[in-house]
Amino acid sequence: MAKIAINIATGSLQQEEIIVGIDLGTTNSLVAIIHPESKKPVALKEHNSSSLVPSVIHFGKNAGITVGNDAKQYLVSDPANTIFSAKRLMGKTYNDIKNNSTSLAYKIIDDENKLVKVQVGDIFYSPVDLSALILKELKKQAEHIIKTPVTKAVITVPAYFNDAQRQATRDAGKLAGLDVLRIINEPTAASLAYGFGLNKAETKTIAVYDLGGGTFDISILNIAGGVFEVFSTNGDTYLGGDDFDAAVVDYWLSANTFTGEALTHRQVLRLKAEEAKKYLSSNELFKTEYEGKEISISRESFEAVVKPIVERTIASCKNALKDAGLKKNEVDEIVMVGGSTRVPLVKEMVSAFFEKKLNDTVDPDEVVALGAAIQADILAGNTTDMLLLDITPLSLGLETMGGLMDVLLPRNSKIPARASRQYTTYKDGQSGMKIAVYQGERDMVKDNRRLAEFNLTGIPGMPAGMPKVEISFLINADGILVVNAKELRSGVEQSIEVKPQYGLTDEDVEKMLLDSMEHAKEDMDLRALTEAKTEAEQLLQTTEKFLQKNFESLTKAEVTTTSLAMQALQLSLDMNDKNLIQTKTEELNDISSPYAERIMDEAVQKAMKGNKIDSL
Ligand code: AMP
Repeated sequence: MAKIAINIATGSLQQEEIIVGIDLGTTNSLVAIIHPESKKPVALKEHNSSSLVPSVIHFGKNAGITVGNDAKQYLVSDPANTIFSAKRLMGKTYNDIKNNSTSLAYKIIDDENKLVKVQVGDIFYSPVDLSALILKELKKQAEHIIKTPVTKAVITVPAYFNDAQRQATRDAGKLAGLDVLRIINEPTAASLAYGFGLNKAETKTIAVYDLGGGTFDISILNIAGGVFEVFSTNGDTYLGGDDFDAAVVDYWLSANTFTGEALTHRQVLRLKAEEAKKYLSSNELFKTEYEGKEISISRESFEAVVKPIVERTIASCKNALKDAGLKKNEVDEIVMVGGSTRVPLVKEMVSAFFEKKLNDTVDPDEVVALGAAIQADILAGNTTDMLLLDITPLSLGLETMGGLMDVLLPRNSKIPARASRQYTTYKDGQSGMKIAVYQGERDMVKDNRRLAEFNLTGIPGMPAGMPKVEISFLINADGILVVNAKELRSGVEQSIEVKPQYGLTDEDVEKMLLDSMEHAKEDMDLRALTEAKTEAEQLLQTTEKFLQKNFESLTKAEVTTTSLAMQALQLSLDMNDKNLIQTKTEELNDISSPYAERIMDEAVQKAMKGNKIDSL
């Protein structure tokens, strides 16, 4: 996947780095890349081992921090220092999770509305720190396998993750030394792994059914023109293969009596139940021994005990369809994700519900990471048929009169995106127009980030307000913004390319958003003042021009009162008082409107007599 590229600007050769796809899962995580020879996505694994890295971290006293398979063994022997399911805590406060935190054996800090922290010994870890440790391990293992430094990644998140959770995932990547080029939705990645959306002409509705160890999600997506849109999501963050295991344990406990502690039985039998479940995915009868007794479960009995759990997922599918406003037969494809979709009963029931054959040929554990690798490959520029799944992180706009920000593409617009608006000149005979492009959420451009500036020149001389300058913003699939300015009457045109995200760190984006929220009130006041000033200045200019032209037709009293009102308006402008400016603007308007109308009427009458109307 590494390739040589020529930088057009400098003519220099650059060695491009590898970009990996990462599925950062609740239970397991894994890394995938596009194989340099086969050009197909592959999950990375050491010889003879699984590609799955358990999302588990152990904080040992002497041995230090271990992550993955080495840490998993401590879940039983050292639960207080072994952290699992950190993903469930991402972007959450203690209040969000307190009802479900009892199932966690480690210590969560009870700090109501503050973001969750986990205490291990004397040290506090945020979910971002914990996820960063997992990502660091994934990076290390990937570098070991492919013998190439890994610094760039695409990471997947559940479709229902909010901004804070996505941001937390990005931050975790950064802490782990990864430049996170994209955060993409897990169902989108899974669809990509089946090749959906790679053909830009394709329009499809896809249901992604994801049943893992501890969570269930159903997402209904639509793809059109290479853009994925999530129509609806549903599910249960506490439903998965673990519940199948528990149902099997209950089945055994109800059919057998064992001596000793019930809790110990559950723990040992849980492992045997998982073994049984997996075995029954391709066999009819599972037998094992416990406390000298033979225990068994047939496929039929297994299916009977897990059926009510699968039915709950089907109820979620119904709700997701309802929320998307779709009927079953409007879904074109069903993609299966997560280890628990290997259970034949799950496949049967999902297929029966949607009345359709399923897409289940890609390994359900790897499908999300493989899709992330495909997205990474697209970003690396190796797939020319571009597809874009991203949104603009900040609003993009232009500077207008008085230094105001006029937003053309609001934050979170889907890319590719296009917007245009018409502007005009404010001075007679103005031949050029400065076009300054800004990024940010504040009302005044001085508080935002300037991306580019250029002049549209050669506008033919026309009175103020006559030229029609259409400015359009187009963010293409590469995330590059092309700004085009065209004077529609004369056809004069100019354009410029800008890279909106270039050089902006995630902290910058976050800071800009926080600033905009913090200064919302003062920004609004300043915007109102600036608008009032602009209107007043324009009124002063046109009145001045009108007086000069029509001096003869005005009475002395009219000229005097107008001049006094103009002076008062100018004074209010100098005082920077919005209310006063508005009052004085109205007063000047009230004084000048009657004679302006009278002079206009006279001009019309003249014209009726065959004279042409002169410009007023
Ligand atoms: P995931 O969260 O996607 O990694 O899925 C993990 C879940 O899949 C666990 O509950 C596993 O027990 C379950 N699982 C893995 N392999 C199989 C299999 N062959 N049959 C049934 N369930 C499986």
